[in-house]
Amino acid sequence: MIPYGKQDISADDIAAVVDVLQSDFLTQGPAVPAFEQAIKQHCGVGHAVAVNSATSALHLACLALDVGPGKRVWTSPITFVASANCALYCGAEVDFVDIDPHTYNLSVEQLEKKLTDAERAGRLPDVVIPVHLAGQSCDMRAIHALAQRYGFRIIEDASHAIGAGYEGLPVGSCTFSDIAVFSFHPVKIVTTGEGGCAVTRSQTLAEKMALLRSHGITRDTDRMTQPAHGGWYYQQIALGFNYRMTELQAALGASQMTRLPEFVRRRRQLAAQYNALLQDLPLTLPRQADNTQSAWHLYILRLQTENAEQHAAVFERLRQSGIGVNLHYIPVHTQPYYQALGFRWGDFPEAERYYRQAISIPLYHAMTDEQQAQVVRTLTEVLL
Ligand SMILES: *Cc1c(COP(=O)(O)O)cnc(C)c1O
Repeated sequence: MIPYGKQDISADDIAAVVDVLQSDFLTQGPAVPAFEQAIKQHCGVGHAVAVNSATSALHLACLALDVGPGKRVWTSPITFVASANCALYCGAEVDFVDIDPHTYNLSVEQLEKKLTDAERAGRLPDVVIPVHLAGQSCDMRAIHALAQRYGFRIIEDASHAIGAGYEGLPVGSCTFSDIAVFSFHPVKIVTTGEGGCAVTRSQTLAEKMALLRSHGITRDTDRMTQPAHGGWYYQQIALGFNYRMTELQAALGASQMTRLPEFVRRRRQLAAQYNALLQDLPLTLPRQADNTQSAWHLYILRLQTENAEQHAAVFERLRQSGIGVNLHYIPVHTQPYYQALGFRWGDFPEAERYYRQAISIPLYHAMTDEQQAQVVRTLTEVLL
C-alpha cells in the first residue's frame, strides 16, 4: 500500500534521539529550548512553546486568550476535530464558518456575513481559528482586518503548514494573528512522534502558555505571592496541565527542522507533477490562492460528481489497488458529538458538498516518481 502520508526518519534524526537517551535529561533539559529556538528562527517570532501535541497547543492558546464559559470560538468545519474541541475544553461555545469553494479554507466572505449577523444579535466571536488546510494559508490579511473591526482574537491552526508561506512570510510569523499552532504528528510535515508547538509575538501570551504547560507551577520568585521558603520552593499560581514535550521528541524535532526546506521542496515538486499528470482526468485539482506558497501537507482531489455512492466506490477501488487514499475531513459539525450540541447536516452546505467529492491521494517526502506514476495510473484506470 502506498500510504497517503508518512514520516521520513534519517540516520541523523536517529542519532539525535540516541544522544538524548545517553544524556542526563529525558525531560526538562536543553533539547526542548533548542527545538523552540529552531521553530522561532524559522517563523521569525520571539516566542515558541513546545508541547506534547497540537491539541494541547490549541487548548493552551485558547486559555491564554481567556477563552472560557460565555465566550464564543469560530472555526472551519473542514478540519480535524481538535480545532473545535479546544474551545469546548474551556467551556466556551463553538460555531463554524463555511468554506471557500476553491481553497477549502474558511471563507472570508462567509466570515464577514456571519460577523454582520452576529453583531446585530450581540453574539460576536471572541476567537476565530482559521485552519490552513493541506498547507495552504488562509487569507490572513483579510481575516486580520475583520478581527480589527469586530474585536476578535486569532489562533492559526497551522498543523498542516510548517514550511508554508503567505505574502512571502513564513506561516507562523503571527503577522496577522495572536498565536499559531503546529502539529508534529508523524503524518505531518515535520514529526516528533507526537508533539506540537504554539508560536506568538506576545511575551505575555507565551508566559501564560508556558505556565499552563507545566501544572501552573512557577519557580520565578517575581511571580510568587510570598517570599520563597528555600531553594526547593515553587508555587502553583494557576490550574495547569502536564502538556510537556520530552527531550527525545524535541531532539527528533530539531533534527527534522534542519530538513524542513528539503521536505517542502520535494512536496512542492510532487504537487506540481500531480498537477501536470492529472490535468486531463475528470477531477478538480487543488487551487492555490494568490500570495500563498503551500507546504503541501496534503494533495486533495475533488471528483466531479456529488453522488455519494460513486465517491465511496472510487475510494474503495483505489484502496483495493494499493493506493492509501484518505478523506480530510468529515465536516466537524456532522460528528455525533457536535450534532448533540445542535448542529445539523445542511448547516454548512459548501463544506458538505466538498465532503461528498474530496479524496486525499498519497504525498510524502520519500515518495518516488515511480510511486507517483503508479498512483496516477491507478486513478486513470478507476476514473476512465
Ligand atoms: C493533526 C491536526 C491537529 C491535531 O494535532 P495533534 O498533534 O495530533 O494533536 C489539529 N488540527 C489539525 C488541522 C490537524 O491536522
